[in-house]
Amino acid sequence: AGDRAAMAEAAAASRPPPDVDTDDCLREYRHLFSPDILAGQVAFITGGGSGIGFRIAEIFMRHGCRTVIASRNLQRVSEASKNLVAATGQQCLPLSIDVRQPQTIVAAVDEALKEFKRIDILVNGAAGNFLCPASALSFNAFKTVIDIDTIGTFNTSKVLFEKYFRDHGGVIVNITATLSYRGQALQVHAGTAKAAIDAMTRHLAVEWGPNNIRVNSLAPGPITGTEGYRRLGGKFAEEASQFDTIPLQRAGNKTEIAHSTLYLASPLSSYVTGTTLVVDGGSWLTSANNFPALLGIASSSAK
Ligand code: NAP
Repeated sequence: AGDRAAMAEAAAASRPPPDVDTDDCLREYRHLFSPDILAGQVAFITGGGSGIGFRIAEIFMRHGCRTVIASRNLQRVSEASKNLVAATGQQCLPLSIDVRQPQTIVAAVDEALKEFKRIDILVNGAAGNFLCPASALSFNAFKTVIDIDTIGTFNTSKVLFEKYFRDHGGVIVNITATLSYRGQALQVHAGTAKAAIDAMTRHLAVEWGPNNIRVNSLAPGPITGTEGYRRLGGKFAEEASQFDTIPLQRAGNKTEIAHSTLYLASPLSSYVTGTTLVVDGGSWLTSANNFPALLGIASSSAK
């Protein structure tokens, strides 16, 4: 019986928490971390109005954090903010920014500081992606992805540093990807952009460590209930057999990414900086880099 109990416990350590596939708050939530682990803190989350960024905002708020959620579409972040406040009882300020335009970030950070007087955590989640073979990718499409992902992450980090982190310390979590680890087909743009962010993570961790700023990357694998998964995985990812090659035999969910982000943003990781936490069920180690299958999706999703 002792063995069985031990096995059940081991299984629990890789059992996913409940999630919902839409951009809505969780219907139920059981705290695993201390519920006040981020009490009194403020997080600035780019891309916080949808997908993974939205769930990160929710989980942070459920742990006592106030949030700023910022992206281009003000209506989207405003609606998301209403839902987040209703579900968690915490404050959430929705703001419009384009991470490619530093002056929009400056204005948003000024407004956030006026409202909350502090910012403790920056999550760089804003990104753009699509499947496309390199030969069909326009010069401008490649540049746009670098502009949003890589340069946008630099712009936002630099503004937060100058406006607050330099003097008060802080934590930065950059959401990257595993695409470049094995040169994922049809992803030269996003893979290159995210690899550059992982490099940026190490550079800034070194330069800003003395200011008590920790900088880490979090690289998600295939995550259900996201625009990324719908666009990049398509029908291919819906086939149950697709998961056979993933060591944990399943896709991840947004709450799992939010929990790992919470770890990196919290004092639980107080000595962790300059590293990348891969949260992918072991996926990149084993999953097929299947060019024709991906191309099949690319053409069927374009219909
Ligand atoms: P998503 O919902 O499309 O999130 C992207 C967010 O970025 C959107 O909220 C979007 O909002 C914002 N954004 C795009 N361009 C922007 C700009 N120029 N300025 C400011 N905000 C901008 O997709 P997701 O799948 O949840 O992805 C979230 C993060 O996880 C991304 O960094 C992605 O690369 C990463 N990731 C996802 C997966 C996955 O399986 N889903 C896997 C690996 C990595 P607006 O349109 O309102 O601007």
